[in-house]
Amino acid sequence: MADGSLFPPEAQARKELRPHQETALDLIRASARLGNRLIVCGMPTGAGKTVMAARLIERALAKGKQVIFTAPAISLIDQTVAALEAEGITDIGVMQADHPRTNPLARVQVASVQTLARRDIPEAALIIVDECHIRSRVIDRLMDERQDVFFVGLSATPWAKGMGLRWQDLVVPVTIGELIEAGRLSQFKVYAPDVPDLSGVKVQAGEYVESGLADVMGQAALIGSVVQTWLEKGEDRPTLCFAVNRAHAADLQAEFERHGIAAGYVDAMTDRVERDLINRRFRTGDICVICSVRTMTTGVDLPVSCIIDAAPTRSEMLHVQKIGRGLRVNPGTEDCLILDHAGNSLRLGLVTDISRADLDTTAPGEKAKREAKAEKLPKPCVSCGTLHAGRVCPTCSHERRPAANVETAEGELVQISGKRSAPTKAEKQAFWSMALWLQQARGWSAGRTAHLYRDKFRVWPRGLRNVTEQPDQAFMSFERSRRIAYAKRMAGGGK
Ligand SMILES: [Zn+2]
Repeated sequence: MADGSLFPPEAQARKELRPHQETALDLIRASARLGNRLIVCGMPTGAGKTVMAARLIERALAKGKQVIFTAPAISLIDQTVAALEAEGITDIGVMQADHPRTNPLARVQVASVQTLARRDIPEAALIIVDECHIRSRVIDRLMDERQDVFFVGLSATPWAKGMGLRWQDLVVPVTIGELIEAGRLSQFKVYAPDVPDLSGVKVQAGEYVESGLADVMGQAALIGSVVQTWLEKGEDRPTLCFAVNRAHAADLQAEFERHGIAAGYVDAMTDRVERDLINRRFRTGDICVICSVRTMTTGVDLPVSCIIDAAPTRSEMLHVQKIGRGLRVNPGTEDCLILDHAGNSLRLGLVTDISRADLDTTAPGEKAKREAKAEKLPKPCVSCGTLHAGRVCPTCSHERRPAANVETAEGELVQISGKRSAPTKAEKQAFWSMALWLQQARGWSAGRTAHLYRDKFRVWPRGLRNVTEQPDQAFMSFERSRRIAYAKRMAGGGK
């Protein structure tokens, strides 16, 4: 006990790297040995990329080298300095006008890319580029000009278009799924209470046009549904709510307030003082929900255990960044609840199923290469509505039978299109057993049961055991759809 209290938690934490942080260093070294000098390290938020970066810096300093660490915004500089100091890097100077930590002699220089673009850039053997998926002209230029400098890019979402045309290699030491399994990130469950119809929303440069999104998502019914769903499922959890734009965020905030739920509003224009105030009230529980536009600087370290996503996107990066805001492990909450009103999880997948092994090499003006990913897209559990891509529901253990491509959730029809794989023997047997059960219950002829089977699999039942099994929801939905189709054919004059 006495020993432990001598060391603050930070000091203890930096004694040992976690396995995936060791892996990150090993992978970067291995890539460098292959001749790469522009290497991206993809680490999810919460993986401790600063800890890993601090070790890289330490090694460079030990060899008598200098280091530059860049961040994409001036607002991130102070927290970067604090994080590096917590890891034992102290010889730091900040490149920023009138900054109290200005020290050109320090061997580690921390700077925003905006400042770098305006200054003479000091010598360095290693340049670490934080959030390297955000392209910056000054970094591009440095990569060209300084052919003997080693660049390491850090990003939780290194999937930006064309990154592979500038950076040489991507290493991915750990995934969100692995961090959740290790208890480093929070478990989560996703519901899709609304699936907005975005067919009329224009797409420009690969993303939905904001005004079109605002028209759809700003409808009173959808705003009402966001608050209603939260009241039903939200359990008063500390919640971050993402909106399409300021007006939408303000409308959502007002709707929460109208139902007696204390809600705050934050956007990129909210100044430091107000932001701190809101954050403090959020921590004490005086504010339960923060409504925000899609700013990435919101709620970075807030104890969030519910994410409301009301901002549709086509960007996997944005999707993962938003959900990531809720995956920090907080004492007292066992998981994160995600209420996806935007259709993002259905369209892009669950964040545990999104990963890439390579950097994107799409040239400017070229259409982005999209991988076929229908197989990995989640569907709602017919029993409880949780979105998942597997067979057994992680929330209620309901087992999904891939009998039909249409399932109902919470009374709403949610259809997920995608290529179906060939049915297995077990699936055919299960369907046949359920059909037999219904045959007995409804007093059908054997012929009718066989026809139902043929409608499903395009072949007559053969080699199956005649045992019965109680039908599940998917089976009943399919059977009902056949009856409706049959009735329509009859009404249409028996064609
Ligand atoms: Zn379920």
